[in-house]
Amino acid sequence: MSKIWVFAEVSEDGQPTSTTLEMLTKARSLGGTVEAVALGPGATKGAEELGRHGATAVYASEEKVFAEFLAQPAAHALAELVSREQPNLILFSTDYDSRDIAARLGARTGSTVMSNASDVLAVDRAQTQIFGGQKIVDVALSGPDPKIVLVRAKSFPAEPAEGTAEVRPVDVQIPESELKARRTERHQEEAEGPKLEDAKVVIAGGRGLGKPENFDLLEQIASEIPGSAVGATRAVVDAGWVGYNKQIGQTGKTVKPQVYIACGISGASQHQVGMKESRNIIAINKDAEAPILSIADLGVVGDVLKVLPQVVEEIRKRKG
Ligand SMILES: Cc1cc2nc3c(=O)[nH]c(=O)nc-3n(C[C@H](O)[C@H](O)[C@H](O)COP(=O)(O)OP(=O)(O)OC[C@H]3O[C@@H](n4cnc5c(N)ncnc54)[C@H](O)[C@@H]3O)c2cc1C
Repeated sequence: MSKIWVFAEVSEDGQPTSTTLEMLTKARSLGGTVEAVALGPGATKGAEELGRHGATAVYASEEKVFAEFLAQPAAHALAELVSREQPNLILFSTDYDSRDIAARLGARTGSTVMSNASDVLAVDRAQTQIFGGQKIVDVALSGPDPKIVLVRAKSFPAEPAEGTAEVRPVDVQIPESELKARRTERHQEEAEGPKLEDAKVVIAGGRGLGKPENFDLLEQIASEIPGSAVGATRAVVDAGWVGYNKQIGQTGKTVKPQVYIACGISGASQHQVGMKESRNIIAINKDAEAPILSIADLGVVGDVLKVLPQVVEEIRKRKG
């Protein structure tokens, strides 16, 4: 029977990331044994939620070394665990830390590492999307186990199941030679409302907004809709209008909200790959030929700077 591991990212208060729970849900659907590895403060507490999403066991360590030092200690601990437990497949999220750890682990185990997977079909088969999501490619993973696959966020839903995980303490000594890159500072981004990836409604702006100040119109709409967040295209992020944390697309975040409102966005394939799975897409664009309108459920052909103030006014009127 196959053994699938999920490398779990867990916050200090024991909350796994949404991608971790998505990967567990997918791993469960592949059959076999599903286990998780969580390293760093919060790991043990996180086991409850990991168990609820399908992990039957969690290899957990509360050691601060995993949070204080980049990648090396985690890759070392994982390599030791792999040699003892022999998993067939390990799923990682496409997050900065996970990417580093997966690459180092692959170098140690001689495994095939596949990044940017949009689906996992079996312990040795995964899928990715190329040309901005216009072509889907099946990939057969060869080489020694464990296969290592990095999964894009929001590739699958996260669905809880009945289940609890046995916590197995990780007992691995980390040698000095693995403590080269230390995190010296951490900055917590101050944000109100939900994270872009978790928002039910995403209001995204592009170059058609004309100037950075006009993003305020999107913020005004977001402030009226609970559970909403503002996103952007790469063009405006590169122009410095808004921060990279708002970028949606191939080189940004993937979102799958109930409603996606594209304001002054052309709908380049690299943007679409991060939002086209949204449940309902509304697009406002002055060009009736803009590609975004071809995937929109509701298209408004008009000047976004004239339409949006009316949207704000209408929402406020309806809310009284
Ligand atoms: C390797 C690579 C990776 C990339 N990754 C990403 C990514 O992750 N995310 C991403 O978004 N892009 C990405 N891009 C860039 C992408 O190709 C596009 O250049 C970008 O998405 C365009 O952004 P935009 O829609 O804001 O601008 P534009 O393409 O300039 O579109 C502006 C739109 O606004 C409309 N408009 C103008 N004025 C108004 C108005 N007053 N009212 C209404 N509509 C108006 C125009 O008709 C036009 O459709 C990537 C490109 C490459 C090569």
